[in-house]
Amino acid sequence: MKDKVVIVTGGARGIGASAAAAMAGQGAKIVIADLLEEDGRKTAAEHGGLFVKHDVTSEESWQAVVAAALEAHGRIDGLVNNAGVASNLLIEKESLEYFEKVLKINLSGVFLGLKAVLEPMKAAGGGSIVNISSAAGLTALPGTAGYGSSKWGVRGLTKIAALEFGPYRIRVNSVHPGMTYTAMTSQHGAQVGEGMFPLAALGRVGVPDEIGAAVSFLISDAASYVTGAELAVDGGWTAGEVVMLDQVTAQS
Ligand code: NAD
Repeated sequence: MKDKVVIVTGGARGIGASAAAAMAGQGAKIVIADLLEEDGRKTAAEHGGLFVKHDVTSEESWQAVVAAALEAHGRIDGLVNNAGVASNLLIEKESLEYFEKVLKINLSGVFLGLKAVLEPMKAAGGGSIVNISSAAGLTALPGTAGYGSSKWGVRGLTKIAALEFGPYRIRVNSVHPGMTYTAMTSQHGAQVGEGMFPLAALGRVGVPDEIGAAVSFLISDAASYVTGAELAVDGGWTAGEVVMLDQVTAQS
């Protein structure tokens, strides 16, 4: 990880900020790219990193982020495509406009990121990209038409990119957080604590640092033979039907 130059989109807060902290702690040079200026500058300053105001849906904005990273550090070794927004309406209530907005940020944003870093990573002799999907990209969750579709898309796009970028020694993997305590989920009632999330085998929601550690591993050379993989970091939420445990226990 030492001296790797890593761009983290949506890195101003939440999971992105935790991933940045984990990588900076191991000596990476971080570029925080986010719409949120105040939080972004603060997070970047905490980790000795650079902040660039960024909108993942804009190709020009991606060019600016790449240019800033190259100007500051001369190379790009890693990208964490983490920026995202949620949706939580039933199909019958979700508008086409919002559905397409979520796809644009969560899926097209990742596509633009892959395109933007390809040449710099080729020039660096390789690289590692982590795309943040979700448990909602591994299993169907009601009320996530836009969000879930985007995250299933990110999971597939990750594997396509892994095949296309492999010859350039660029690894591409997806991380699938489960219910994690951030601004995105706390407003919908997520609560930290043992027993607060019985749908997961571990019975609790995760905290951003637990996702950041997995991202850091995949960016680092410790994962040098891992590409095209999907890593669930979800307390066992998508491993299977944990609710059946009570029934089986009662019967046996
Ligand atoms: P968050 O809202 O705290 O952080 C998201 C960040 O993305 C914010 O800083 C926001 O400003 C930024 N962002 C949004 N749109 C952007 C755009 N167009 N351009 C640049 N930046 C933009 O949420 P979080 O929980 O930390 O989520 C981070 C990622 O993890 C998202 O992709 C989310 O879907 C995924 N995820 C989160 C959870 C969870 O439970 N929190 C679970 C699964 C997956």
